[in-house]
Amino acid sequence: MDNPDRMRELIDVLNKYAYEYYVLDMPTVSDKEYDALYDELIALEKATGRVYPDSPSLKVGGEPIKEFVQHKHINRLYSLDKCKTFEELIAWDDKLVKSFGGKIEYTLEYKLDGLTLCLTYENGNLSVAATRGNGTVGEDVTEQVKTIRSVPLSIPHKGIMEVQGEGIMRLSALEAYNKTAKEPLKNARNGVAGAIRNLDPKVTASRNLDIIFYNVNFSDEEITSQEQMIDILKQNRFKTEKLLVTSDINRIIDEIKSIDRDKLDFAIDGMVIKVNDVAIREKLGYTDKFPRWAIAYKFEAEETTTELKDVLWQVGRTGKVTPIALLEPVELCGAIVKRATLNNYGDILRKKVKIGSRVFIRRSNDVIPEVLGVADGDGTDIELPERCPSCGTPLIEDGANWFCPNEYACKPQITGKLEHFCEKDCMDIEGLSEKTIGLLYDKIGLNSFEGIYKLKKSDLDGLEGFKDKKISNLLTNIEKSKKADLAHYINALGILGVGKKLASDLARRYGNIFALASATIDDLILIPDMGPITAQYIVEYFSRHIKTLEDLRDIGIDPNYVSVPEGGKLYGEKVVLTGTLQNYKRSEAAEIIEKNGGEVQSSVTSATTLVVAGENAGSKLDKAIKNGIKIIDENEFIALVNS
Ligand code: NAD
Repeated sequence: MDNPDRMRELIDVLNKYAYEYYVLDMPTVSDKEYDALYDELIALEKATGRVYPDSPSLKVGGEPIKEFVQHKHINRLYSLDKCKTFEELIAWDDKLVKSFGGKIEYTLEYKLDGLTLCLTYENGNLSVAATRGNGTVGEDVTEQVKTIRSVPLSIPHKGIMEVQGEGIMRLSALEAYNKTAKEPLKNARNGVAGAIRNLDPKVTASRNLDIIFYNVNFSDEEITSQEQMIDILKQNRFKTEKLLVTSDINRIIDEIKSIDRDKLDFAIDGMVIKVNDVAIREKLGYTDKFPRWAIAYKFEAEETTTELKDVLWQVGRTGKVTPIALLEPVELCGAIVKRATLNNYGDILRKKVKIGSRVFIRRSNDVIPEVLGVADGDGTDIELPERCPSCGTPLIEDGANWFCPNEYACKPQITGKLEHFCEKDCMDIEGLSEKTIGLLYDKIGLNSFEGIYKLKKSDLDGLEGFKDKKISNLLTNIEKSKKADLAHYINALGILGVGKKLASDLARRYGNIFALASATIDDLILIPDMGPITAQYIVEYFSRHIKTLEDLRDIGIDPNYVSVPEGGKLYGEKVVLTGTLQNYKRSEAAEIIEKNGGEVQSSVTSATTLVVAGENAGSKLDKAIKNGIKIIDENEFIALVNS
């Protein structure tokens, strides 16, 4: 169906978005929205056989801007053909196999989501670094690229070599940057593009960028395969990532299925499948936009834009009042997103979001959707409430956050605290849910930990869903919880900044709750990973809650730390868990390690002595291998702790 008006409309809007994205580094729509319009245009072009001369289907990237010196690449740089389903990938393989007349070997690599960079080395020295630009001419960003520490300024190869890689901002660097940045970065790609295409190399340096290489774009030495290309890159001290070489498309599909991108410290938006053999590549050739010998399998988008309809202020168990963004519902990763996190009022101001503005949101599998920043800033200002939205008490400011100080009579604080107290990692009282706690608060005024231990059958009689059996089970569970160990008890108190790991460290260090209650800030900050703010929260907590601890002691709750005898199976080991375990949740495995005298660490450091690697273990395992740390799999772990 010929629809020239729609084609024109699509080209105009796509070219506007591409300009904002490639040239200004200020996208106003997500890649998901851009791709949907692009796919619509491609479908119309295919159906009509008509392609306008300014169609984005004929172009690579954006034009270089005049503020930068222009650089002509030795060989043209291309974009990548894309597919979104495994059926399309199999069809692509079929087509290649048919046209070539035999099996084809492929490589599989991450599709890194950053900024293409092309570096030319002459006589062993870096002479120019440039952006991809329009594929033929890019921007000279040599000074900016030189600030990236992992870029070698000289290499062993002495001829001319042009290498291509992706400038990336590691997710840990992005997180660290956004913690203090005046204007937070929306995502890693934006962070790297804005930093490299910035006239001031100091800005580039401040972003702590990295670069991973995947292509030798030109070399005076003959290269016959992608595999060899990666080896040459490695020999010349470039960072690389390569996953697989195979001619079995199903192995590639299995490998793609097993990728857990949440475990990587860099953003990827898909996987790239390339024909390994350069001679076959030459036969297959290129379209105007991409090579016929490679394809990107694109993952489902994790980001999109939508309207911020309103902000709901929610009171948590610590009294912290947190803004929740109420969104125009939007589909993302197979779910409808209606709410997203805005960390605090300062975050709202820094991200410049307003009610009625379009915002970028991100959702990945196990992370609560988050508002990343503003796409279009029009709207009304979001006001910070002066009073608690639940109980009306005037709020007080503490650091970046606002708190309701009415801790003994503000319902969501009380029910939140008691719910936390009952959790599995705390006193483990099964059957006392937040809903039941809320009902008991209304019925008998339950508002304290001690109150839980004074509950009687008559208090529970008549509560929704509570029959005799359930009541007696709950009362038994409450009684049993008095035997919780010290680490669980400390965790149960819900002290600001104290989670399960720190609770366990505090238990080991102080031995009982009253010893901990008399600790000073100076003493507390000697504990590894303890910051002065958390130390202060702990001291403040105990200065106000000694009576609670005494009441609980009178009820029979006053555990002492039971140290694991020397010779515990993991005594003295510093253990890192990585990958997916089949038989345990992470938290359960961590508990077993601690019970056996080991210490659980969140990342591999020089102090780590053992790594337990489940399935699909990623960078932690790589680091452990590199550092020669002992590694065991899940079965060996089970055998060890049960031996
Ligand atoms: P692309 O980013 O989808 O694919 C090509 C690029 O992938 C290469 O240039 C290279 O930089 C990169 N890449 C990463 N890992 C690689 C590897 N292992 N091997 C080879 N290349 C690798 O294509 P593109 O043409 O750069 O950009 C098109 C995409 O940009 C669109 O799909 C769209 O999502 C996005 N875009 C968004 C907007 C917006 O407004 N949000 C506008 C324009 C384009």
